[in-house]
Amino acid sequence: MAQELEHFINGKRVSGTSGRFGDVYNPATGEVHRKTPLATQAEVRAAVENAQEAFATWSHVPAARRAQVMFKFRDLIIQHMDELAELVSSEHGKTLDDARGSIGRGLEVVEFACGIPHLLKGEFTEAAANGVDVHSVRQAVGVCAGITPFNFPAMVPMWMFPMALACGNTFVLKPSERDPSCSIRMAELMIEAGLPAGCLNVVNGDKEAVDALLTDPDIKAVSFVGSTQIGRYIYATGCANDKRVQALCGAKNHMVIMPDADMDQAVDAVMGAAYGSAGERCMAVSVAVPVGEETANRFVDALAPRVRALKVGPYTDPATEMGPVITRESQQKILGLVDSGIEQGANLVVDGREVNLQGYENGFFVGGCLFDNVTTDMDIYTQEIFGPVLSVVRAQTYGEAATMINDHAYGNGTAIFTRDGDTARDFARDIQIGMVGINVPIPVPVAYHSFGGWKDSLFGDHSIHGMEGVRFYTKLKTVTSRWPSGIREGAAFNFSRGSDV
Ligand code: NAD
Repeated sequence: MAQELEHFINGKRVSGTSGRFGDVYNPATGEVHRKTPLATQAEVRAAVENAQEAFATWSHVPAARRAQVMFKFRDLIIQHMDELAELVSSEHGKTLDDARGSIGRGLEVVEFACGIPHLLKGEFTEAAANGVDVHSVRQAVGVCAGITPFNFPAMVPMWMFPMALACGNTFVLKPSERDPSCSIRMAELMIEAGLPAGCLNVVNGDKEAVDALLTDPDIKAVSFVGSTQIGRYIYATGCANDKRVQALCGAKNHMVIMPDADMDQAVDAVMGAAYGSAGERCMAVSVAVPVGEETANRFVDALAPRVRALKVGPYTDPATEMGPVITRESQQKILGLVDSGIEQGANLVVDGREVNLQGYENGFFVGGCLFDNVTTDMDIYTQEIFGPVLSVVRAQTYGEAATMINDHAYGNGTAIFTRDGDTARDFARDIQIGMVGINVPIPVPVAYHSFGGWKDSLFGDHSIHGMEGVRFYTKLKTVTSRWPSGIREGAAFNFSRGSDV
């Protein structure tokens, strides 16, 4: 009997009332082991009302006090690390080590949020004119919403709510209906850390809940992370309803291997970056671009046996290197794209389509797949596969590799492996991608920098966390004050230079 999950509204778990549920699978067995309630508009409204009411008080709590809640939350996450990792792995399927690692990356954002008094300090100009001072402050925007994807059920929510709350906002989170348990547990831990009830609500749901958030007049800002198709819709609908929106979307990340690269290092790097978490990472390397035939031959020869040897299995087996993908639908989509790659003429060097694991016959497994001689017109090149499939596109020159990357619709991450400083510097300066790695395959920025792509990988003006997070979750206010000693006689009807005011 599948366990029925709940929402988290006004500081406690509450049952869903819609009678509609989403299936949460154990992806290793294919069994439905939990059911997510899918919220009605009225349930979303109740959560937003709670957050709106809580905002009146929370936004006036001193930043240093809000930081204390974050410090406590940080301790609780560390204390509950194994429990949270188990929730992530049991619903997502990734290994426990990988789950712990991703929670650790989310934790870094919480640690950054602990410094919020410093981050909100503002600017002050004494004597902008005689007797006139000017100061700028950043104030909370109101109730913010977060809509998150399945692939990082702890980390991506933690990119959002700690920054939003630390800035003085309240928050309504709509996690992925595929793996929502970790979000509910983190909301509970926030209350234990001292966050007042109503400041952080979690509503589970699908399009109905998302649309209710996007059109609710009390929601002032929306952070979305997910696919490009849905992200475009979120951005357009949120903006049309007068909200500020950041929508971080899909990706196709290229890794260039120059002839002078350390080949062992490059092959090690691509193994983790392409096949870790079954390729279900927006920063996964899904295209390798060796430069020159000789480099390509060495790269493919060294990589193929490693891909064949990948240990695929359930997260409960400590030897597992790569778990299943999230749903049967996702598995079928990935397998369909692999078939299309063969039909369109690519060379499938390692075929991971058949995985036979005793006791896990119904799991959503896909083995590591490696394509060589992929061309840029093939579906496996143009589309985000979001599975353990790496395409090798051979380039003859560095210029050809760079142009290929710049021409791709997505612009999330990219990497170059080389020992040549000039090439690395040119790449970092000229490439049309938001996050760049030099001999670093998955250049996910640390929490005090900001995460975000270009082109079809991000809609909106702000990346996420770091100072971009502070800017997104606050409004700038500038106050110009004049004190009696500086007041001039008489009225002025003309505009004058600031220093003459
Ligand atoms: P998704 O777009 O299917 O879902 C994301 C969220 O949108 C979920 O909460 C879902 O409930 C909601 N949603 C789904 N369909 C909707 C609809 N029709 N209307 C309104 N809301 C809807 O994405 P996913 O499959 O959960 O996650 C994988 C995708 O997320 C990949 O494309 C991946 O690249 C991307 N991703 C991007 C980043 C980034 O930072 N750029 C990070 C992680 C994941």
